[in-house]
Amino acid sequence: MATIGFIGLGKMGGPMMLNLVKAGHTVKAFDVVPAALDEAKQAGATVAAEAADAARRVDAVVTMLPAGQHVREVYLGERGVIAAAAPGTLLIDSSTIDVDTARAVSAAAGKSGLHMVDAPVSGGVGGAAAGTLTFMVGGEPAAFARAEPILQAMGKAVIHTGGPGTGQAAKICNNMLLGISMIGVCEAFALARRLGLEEQRLFDVSSKSSGQCWSLTSYCPVPGPVPSSPANRDHQPGFTASMMLKDLRLAQQAAQSAGAATPLGAAAESLYGIFCNSGKGELDFSGIIRLLEGN
Ligand code: NAD
Repeated sequence: MATIGFIGLGKMGGPMMLNLVKAGHTVKAFDVVPAALDEAKQAGATVAAEAADAARRVDAVVTMLPAGQHVREVYLGERGVIAAAAPGTLLIDSSTIDVDTARAVSAAAGKSGLHMVDAPVSGGVGGAAAGTLTFMVGGEPAAFARAEPILQAMGKAVIHTGGPGTGQAAKICNNMLLGISMIGVCEAFALARRLGLEEQRLFDVSSKSSGQCWSLTSYCPVPGPVPSSPANRDHQPGFTASMMLKDLRLAQQAAQSAGAATPLGAAAESLYGIFCNSGKGELDFSGIIRLLEGN
């Protein structure tokens, strides 16, 4: 079992850290919010005084922070993780951030003799609590091999996606596809309603035809056909529209940086931006059908 520093004990990081403790790891936890530290102590972790403290005398550091700016601050700051960690320490960043930041932090870690992977997740708060997250892991094979058993204590699938930054690339490519496909499914239902085609009938046809996709068959945006989908509880999340917007913005940033053409991704970003600005950002992302139907 390893000694692990854990930084960022929010909605995702809190339960992830708890699963490391339950698996028998020794955890040194840190967050800027004092209440999160109290909870960590009760859960059986020791509490670190600052990020640097969580990175000293540990085998690995896991971070679960809101965005790229926080990751830069926590890793690259004067009193940050890279300055404090002993050579050979493994660094795992599970935040969802931009690919350029992930690669810059990984390169800085490498220069200091540290091993780093970017390991964003899918599965949400429920998956974090249940230990059933999927990790998309970018980094050198040796770093992946060391990270894998630690990540397995928090997830059900740990997938090596290639070199540094490719975990973040996989995450934003997948979520861009998801955002686009959800809007496509919503448009089909909105049109069907106007044409007098019953929702269940469209579902029966498309779920067995070439329009079939996850947004339709697992997460249907209208109530009825898939009883477990958020549409059946007034589009309560699930995965919020504001988190989808964050990921679509990251995808557009990456597309610009890499010179990729992603016109539907850009349209999806605009539509989710309008939806969130209308005060609906905390609804599930499948609620975007309300924007198309004007309600
Ligand atoms: P959150 O805001 O609940 O948690 C972030 C935590 O980081 C907070 O407790 C905050 O106090 C802490 N923090 C911020 N700056 C810090 C610093 N400098 N030092 C130490 N701690 C600091 O966010 P979350 O929902 O847990 O999401 C974390 C990451 O996971 C995000 O990148 C998000 O996009 C990604 N993600 C979230 C979900 C989800 O369903 N919530 C799903 C998949 C991925």
